[in-house]
Amino acid sequence: MKRRILIKIFSDETKGGKDLSLSKGLVKFIFISISLFLISFTFLLYHFINYNVARYKLNQYVTENNYLKKKVKALEQKTALLDSTIDDYYHKYTALATYAGVQPVPYELKNIGIGGQIEEPPTKDLKPVVDLDEKIRKLEKFVDIQMASFQKIENKLERDNYIRSHTPSILPCNGRFTSGFGMRHDPFTGRMHFHYGIDLAAPIGTPIYAPADGIVKRVRRTKGGYGLMLEIDHGIGITTRYGHLSMVLVRPGQKVKRGQIIARVGNTGRSTGPHLHYEVRILNKPVNPLNYIIPYQSFFD
Ligand SMILES: [Zn+2]
Repeated sequence: MKRRILIKIFSDETKGGKDLSLSKGLVKFIFISISLFLISFTFLLYHFINYNVARYKLNQYVTENNYLKKKVKALEQKTALLDSTIDDYYHKYTALATYAGVQPVPYELKNIGIGGQIEEPPTKDLKPVVDLDEKIRKLEKFVDIQMASFQKIENKLERDNYIRSHTPSILPCNGRFTSGFGMRHDPFTGRMHFHYGIDLAAPIGTPIYAPADGIVKRVRRTKGGYGLMLEIDHGIGITTRYGHLSMVLVRPGQKVKRGQIIARVGNTGRSTGPHLHYEVRILNKPVNPLNYIIPYQSFFD
């Protein structure tokens, strides 16, 4: 015999209650139905919530995306502006490089970039971002190359400036030119003799100026020859000598600047009258000092 389940229902209308007899199968069916309903409901609720969260996120992404698109456009404009500024700056750079005697980096390098694989955008819509990135990287590389070149220009200008400031270029004293560089009759013996410098006659005490920057190499006093003599090392293989001095105002090892008073004209040593004997030597070989005097140049840079 099938077992049945008896449910007694009490209410105000039915005194003593009402019996409800249900088969076990029916109860099972009802139970399964309610369970299925609850599972379905939970499932739908879950998806409903998920859908709404996704919709919310989607709206957020759309807003963000629109914002980013605007930003990319603005960055594209700024990059284009930067690009033309780099062009202006390149013209100034080439002028400076030419002035310094440095080969400027070719303009074509601007569009060469960094090489390697060109990045593929995840979607076609993102191509402007990849292009922008590529453009910025090219400009960055071009600026880096120019920075390295600027370093070369700076070094070259510094070197040139050093050479310029250390090359004798002015008349060391205001005097009358009495004897030149080369063969001449010796004023004492009358015999032909090589004169290694120039002579500038001037009253005793006339100031003598350093013709370029350098370091005092030595101060020497001899009875004959140069008399009281001063030698300056200009550091680029050039030395200068000053003979027959009455006074030396600097000491060995001291740095001197072009235009600085270093000594005074005298009549010491093998001299026939107050004058400065001035020599310029390259690697200790005497050269004509007149080639190291720029006419009308001021004493100071
Ligand atoms: Zn002389």
